[in-house]
Amino acid sequence: MTDSCLFCRIVRKEIPSRIVHENEEAVVFEDIHPQAPFHVLIVPRRHIESLSDMKAQDADLIGRLVWTAQKIAQEKGIASDGYRVVINSGTAGGQTVLHLHLHLLGGRQMAWPPG
Ligand code: 5GP
Ligand code: ZN
Repeated sequence: MTDSCLFCRIVRKEIPSRIVHENEEAVVFEDIHPQAPFHVLIVPRRHIESLSDMKAQDADLIGRLVWTAQKIAQEKGIASDGYRVVINSGTAGGQTVLHLHLHLLGGRQMAWPPG
């Protein structure tokens, strides 16, 4: 947890967000600039800067974040048509907020390759 990190501040509810789910280790909230009809961010409460900073002991946590993505997709009705889960890591990966997070996107046909 850091004082200046945007997502730490959202997790602590110092900055408002539209939370769709939370549990003891993660908060799921709507992306402020949605790239699909359904677009939420799955954010661990613990500050990990990026996927590159993941340690072996974080593997279970990140596995559970993916599991949470699958559960939210089912609950929100986007699973039957299909959906996308994305982790951007580092500058060339397109990461802009330096607190590890999963994007869960759905509700439209996705293109490949990404831009
Ligand atoms: P990244 O580019 O790091 O993978 O994704 C960061 C995401 O955070 C972007 O999709 C961006 O729209 C979203 N975002 C940035 N600032 C805020 C904010 O203040 N609130 C919410 N809900 N989302 C944000
Ligand atoms: Zn943080």
